[in-house]
Amino acid sequence: MISCTLAEVVAEMEAMYDPSWAESWDAVGLVCGDPDQSVRKVLFAVDPVAAVVDEALDWGADLLVTHHPLYLRGTTSVAATTFKGRVVHRLIRGGVALLTAHTNADVADPGVSDALARAIGLTSELRPLQPSADDPRRGLGRIGVLPAPMPLREFAVRAASGLPRTAGPPRVAGDLNRMVETVAVCGGSGDSLLGVASAAGADVFLTADLRHHPASEHMEAAAGPALIDAAHWATEWPWLADAARRLTSALAAGGITVEARVSDTVTDAWTATTTDLDPRAL
Ligand SMILES: [Zn+2]
Repeated sequence: MISCTLAEVVAEMEAMYDPSWAESWDAVGLVCGDPDQSVRKVLFAVDPVAAVVDEALDWGADLLVTHHPLYLRGTTSVAATTFKGRVVHRLIRGGVALLTAHTNADVADPGVSDALARAIGLTSELRPLQPSADDPRRGLGRIGVLPAPMPLREFAVRAASGLPRTAGPPRVAGDLNRMVETVAVCGGSGDSLLGVASAAGADVFLTADLRHHPASEHMEAAAGPALIDAAHWATEWPWLADAARRLTSALAAGGITVEARVSDTVTDAWTATTTDLDPRAL
């Protein structure tokens, strides 16, 4: 088995998810790690949190690739006095590099929302909901059509079954008997695309982190798509397997073998709903 350097893995990741595609407010790329260190095992996860670091260290990963950045704003200290500093210390002590592919992975072709669309049953050609100005093949969100129209209630159940389980199930807004065929999706927080999904003629829009006022006003307007609000982590998790597969095959084409694993540790912020709690156990 020919191992490779971190620099070679980063170069392949950047070829798939060009850092220049990231939003100006974003922080993507290498967070820690020595470009000369060798990489044999790569763990993919959504969040760079303690439970994921545990998993990376237990497995003996050389590189942790996460979708969400560890540090998004300017920082002057990585002291282990904060949870973020402890993440940095534990990764460096364990010889694990950390790489972030965030909004550059969102707009890639294929990107985060392609994987989400496939996970919830879209098999058609997909196009970006909001195409990038410099290349319309890339962009935020995706829109496609189902193999056959079905009532919203059936689609919602099917979509939920394609997503990994989290504490709370997806929430639905709209007439459950409404027939849906054209489906828009956006991995992560997609409420900025509500208007775009309406204008694109979607029958239903699945995303995460929908808030009361935008959702309520959207539903009152009546003409737009039904809404499905899923857990943020669950909408981005399907991308991990796609990224892992693309990275390993790109490296394999150059004769390099790395072992990739997708973390199935649920790191969604919400860990329970009160319907799961037994009042007799209080
Ligand atoms: Zn996200």
